[in-house]
Amino acid sequence: MTTDYDVAVVGAGLAGCAAACRLARGGARVILFEKAAAPHHKVCGEFLSGEGLPFLRDMGIDLECTPAVPSFRLHGPARSCEAALPMPGRAFSRYRLDELMLDAATQAGVKVRRGVVVQTLEDATSDRGYEIDGYRAPRVVCAAGKSEFRPVQTRQGKDSGMVGFKLHLKLAPQAQDRLQGHVDLFVFRGGYGGVAPVEGGVANFCFLVEKSKLNDMPRNWPAMSAWLGQRCDGLDACLRDSRPVFWPALSVANVPYGFVRESAVADDLYCVGDQLAVIPSLTGEGMTIALMSGSRAAEHILNRGGATGFHEEMHELLKPRVALGYQVHRLFKAPGICDLATQLVARWPRLLEYIFSNTRLPQLSRL
Ligand SMILES: Cc1cc2nc3c(=O)[nH]c(=O)nc-3n(C[C@H](O)[C@H](O)[C@H](O)COP(=O)(O)OP(=O)(O)OC[C@H]3O[C@@H](n4cnc5c(N)ncnc54)[C@H](O)[C@@H]3O)c2cc1C
Repeated sequence: MTTDYDVAVVGAGLAGCAAACRLARGGARVILFEKAAAPHHKVCGEFLSGEGLPFLRDMGIDLECTPAVPSFRLHGPARSCEAALPMPGRAFSRYRLDELMLDAATQAGVKVRRGVVVQTLEDATSDRGYEIDGYRAPRVVCAAGKSEFRPVQTRQGKDSGMVGFKLHLKLAPQAQDRLQGHVDLFVFRGGYGGVAPVEGGVANFCFLVEKSKLNDMPRNWPAMSAWLGQRCDGLDACLRDSRPVFWPALSVANVPYGFVRESAVADDLYCVGDQLAVIPSLTGEGMTIALMSGSRAAEHILNRGGATGFHEEMHELLKPRVALGYQVHRLFKAPGICDLATQLVARWPRLLEYIFSNTRLPQLSRL
């Protein structure tokens, strides 16, 4: 046993870094474990909703100086519509964002242990809390993200039947120009995907495909982009003559969409980010939920609140938002309905406003 800390955080994604940073700034001694030894890309649409920006600002990360994304376009297989976002968001690569977050945590005084895969939470006796990799802490923040983390129970989503892919693309000049200031959502037979303009003049393309369609999907980019383009006119225009910045695409399976943790696993174990709730990707709200829940867990710990109260608060807040996001995700499985939806939205833009305002987290940064 080498050192004692007040809190151990497992996972240095958005939720884990937000929690660790806030705790350290509040005077807690924090140790943060991250399994990846070096910066890396992550499967994510990389669109951060405007509601998430204040959490980053609090950590000293100013994404407001990057180009705003004020507009959202929805493309069904044959029809499209456009709407203003309730608050302009930002598009930024997770490769860089997660490193900025980790730097902020380190500067706040967090002890970072990189390249450590936490497999178990050794149950030290109740007065000693948990033991991880030889370090002891009375409280643990579980921020292990998408992957299952064995020491807490398995998450059951309502739909884990899709596989997510992500790659960065150099788009053709016309398509890149068209993308500026927008995030595009394309719905096609067997899946949907988003394109967002991240830094460095490249586009992030992240898409979900139903497992049953995977055998049909070609494995090289020219054929894969043509296969996707055949399924959606807007996507065809966007992807034509694009080339990947890295290959192969990253992928992730078995994401438990629709999951919301009902209650605390233990009163000294706080689950945050995707370990707390998994809102369908199309809402572009998962990162903001991760930032909010990490910060909020830190506040509870600093105020000596138990995980039970934290989880009750989060459940009440997130359950209806994740449920609505899941209903829209289900609708997108019928692309014809999406074409119809684009017409409805063109006629009644308030429909989209309703969905935005009921899936987003309003002004929670100062909870
Ligand atoms: C296809 C897809 C598209 C998406 N698009 C968007 C979008 O456009 N906008 C948006 O807001 N959200 C989007 N999301 C959701 C968003 O990516 C997640 O909600 C968010 O990343 C959750 O953050 P997190 O900190 O909980 O987890 P993560 O960002 O996954 O971080 C978890 C960290 O824990 C580490 N870790 C895992 N297990 C261990 C272990 N045992 N020991 C040590 N470290 C461990 C991992 O290496 C990782 O660094 C998307 C998700 C998917 C699947």
